[in-house]
Amino acid sequence: MKQSILVINCGSSSLKFAVLSDEGTVTLVEGMADRLNTNQSTITFKHQGQKTQTTLDEGSHKSVVTHIKQWLDQHNDIKRTLVGVGHRVVHGGETFSRSVLINQEVIDGINECAKFAPLHNPAHAKGIEVAFELFPGLPQIAVFDTAFHQTLLPEHYLYPIPMRFYRDHHFRKYGFHGTSYRYISHFFSSIVPNSHRQGVLIAHLGNGASVCAVNNGQSSDTSMGITPLEGLMMGTRSGSVDPSLVAFIGQADNINSEKALSLLNKKSGLLGISELSNDCRTLEEAMLLGDSKAKLALDMFAVRTAKHLASSATTLDKVDHVIFTGGIGENSPYLRDLICSHLRVFNICIDSQLNQNAPRGDVSNISASDSHPQTWIIPTNEELMIALDALQLIR
Ligand code: AMP
Repeated sequence: MKQSILVINCGSSSLKFAVLSDEGTVTLVEGMADRLNTNQSTITFKHQGQKTQTTLDEGSHKSVVTHIKQWLDQHNDIKRTLVGVGHRVVHGGETFSRSVLINQEVIDGINECAKFAPLHNPAHAKGIEVAFELFPGLPQIAVFDTAFHQTLLPEHYLYPIPMRFYRDHHFRKYGFHGTSYRYISHFFSSIVPNSHRQGVLIAHLGNGASVCAVNNGQSSDTSMGITPLEGLMMGTRSGSVDPSLVAFIGQADNINSEKALSLLNKKSGLLGISELSNDCRTLEEAMLLGDSKAKLALDMFAVRTAKHLASSATTLDKVDHVIFTGGIGENSPYLRDLICSHLRVFNICIDSQLNQNAPRGDVSNISASDSHPQTWIIPTNEELMIALDALQLIR
């Protein structure tokens, strides 16, 4: 019999879901609920190429999962194939270094890690609780964004601050996008079988963006930190800056440190510099029409991404491959070209035709013929990774 997994990605104001079958390769239904906890919540189902949107009377997480359950009740051919529910969880702290079957102890652990991800982890715990209630008997699995980076060595994950903060409070680099990096490494080894014995740099560039160095199949460094604010310049996040800026911004705008941090999270990055948008595509269009701030924002994004890739490369035995993924990494030839041009010191050269004409949504090798580090585009698929983990743990 076909076995399928319901994958749930529960955020504070949105919930994405999909039912994947055939070892995660076939999407039977997918969708998203938006603007949760407001009176404008909607849920959209995409099934057999058709989209249907419904307004929710009550925009709670419970009402969304109830809706999904009701939809499944009406599509018994899909419902009867369900063997489990996989949940994406942003922060697993030092407690979770791999995906796990969820029990009360795991839920307590997820709640404990909420201090580092106050917007995300409580929403995940809520989603899990509701799924247990509405799908009794189905095993539930948690897949953590931080887990892949638990192989980092202390010299990479510790911050150079008094040691007691780590000892007493677990303040350290955790890194994120781990499910995406693990999927890319796993998939890449199916097309380049010896890549798990090589050095691979991966740039996950989307609205949130980070890089990861994978040495012999294990994460050896990553750019995000205790929160997803550290590292690259992003859509609205500044990425790494001198921490003194928090105090200076606070004084300049007469706001407290929490608000200054919120400014670094929500009003900075591409949006802050361009004063136009956090969206790469919008900025590329504006740049082509002569908007110099849009160009500056994109140029800064490229420079800072290249610097972080170069820095992470120091944890590799050698650089064999560079992989671009995420909405920007997969779709912006302009930024791929610019980032690689700043990495000439590593002999990373791409073929401009291959880069420009790379097919959307597909794997491509865009390397110039004389480039030893090979440069690739690989679409990420976190839902597939969650489904595969869930199937493995259930079996
Ligand atoms: P993600 O967060 O991975 O969904 O990626 C979102 C980012 O990808 C946004 O900044 C989009 O503008 C960007 N993006 C998507 N498609 C394109 C495209 N064709 N060209 C440039 N950027 C794109």
